[in-house]
Amino acid sequence: MIRRADEIPFSWSVRRQEMWNSCRRSCFLHYYGASGGYDENASPELRRIHEMRSLLSESGYIRRLIGSELRRAFYAPHETEHPEFPDSSPPLAGAVLSRFRREFHRMLRGEFQSDHAAPMLESLYYPDPGGVGAVRGRLEQKLRHALEALESGVWPMLARIRFLHRRTISSPLEVTLPGALRCYTVPVLAFQEKGEFSFIESSGADATALLLRFYAMNTLHIPPDRVRTFELLPEEGILRESGVELNAARTLREIRAGAAEMLDAIRPSGEVCSDDFPPRREACPRCRFRAYCNAQ
Ligand code: SF4
Repeated sequence: MIRRADEIPFSWSVRRQEMWNSCRRSCFLHYYGASGGYDENASPELRRIHEMRSLLSESGYIRRLIGSELRRAFYAPHETEHPEFPDSSPPLAGAVLSRFRREFHRMLRGEFQSDHAAPMLESLYYPDPGGVGAVRGRLEQKLRHALEALESGVWPMLARIRFLHRRTISSPLEVTLPGALRCYTVPVLAFQEKGEFSFIESSGADATALLLRFYAMNTLHIPPDRVRTFELLPEEGILRESGVELNAARTLREIRAGAAEMLDAIRPSGEVCSDDFPPRREACPRCRFRAYCNAQ
């Protein structure tokens, strides 16, 4: 398969780097092969690759669901409350569990087939040996465990942050590094208290801590030593400070080296060809593209 790279703007992200390190063919399929497959009128092959690209692992789904509901609750309008002092933490568990049930129902109805933006689990797409009931039971159990932990620690702490200290932030967030290297990261939320700007994010990687410090410095004009980053571990319901021993120069070099290697895979003609992205068969058993890729 050959695609034109200049039709698909390059950007670096922790996720892309992980995929590149795991299997270059999956990186090709995700970023180039699936491009354009969102369109219902795309060719069946493109639709199929895009469909697989959109699948979520169970832990990825939990992270996305909890992160998005936490974000929604944190920034929810508060017209009826005191504008400065929140007096309670709105319940999170009910909202997360009812959204899970709605979404799971939509997955079983197959809405994903026509709308790839609808969530779909890899363990339903590639049927789980225990059947649908096992997938639902496992997810419900993990969600309940995560919510119990969150509601007894992190969520009340976040909910006590004054509304005037909460800072809206785009997610995904584009950050441009020196040399015009476009990068993406996915913060959950942000707030500013006692002269410190804090981001909650979900990767825990030094690269994410660095990107968020660049963003704070260049866009918000906050020096890096006034910025803290915390990784949200939704399944455990805790926050862990990230970037504590960040070596900015080294991390920047690593991001640049990773991006340069990926850009090097683009042919001088401006094309990218799947043959230049070797498969790594050890990674196949857990790969979303296995039904397509292993049949090639
Ligand atoms: S099926 Fe295997 S070789 Fe193919 S993209 Fe996935 S991990 Fe790579």
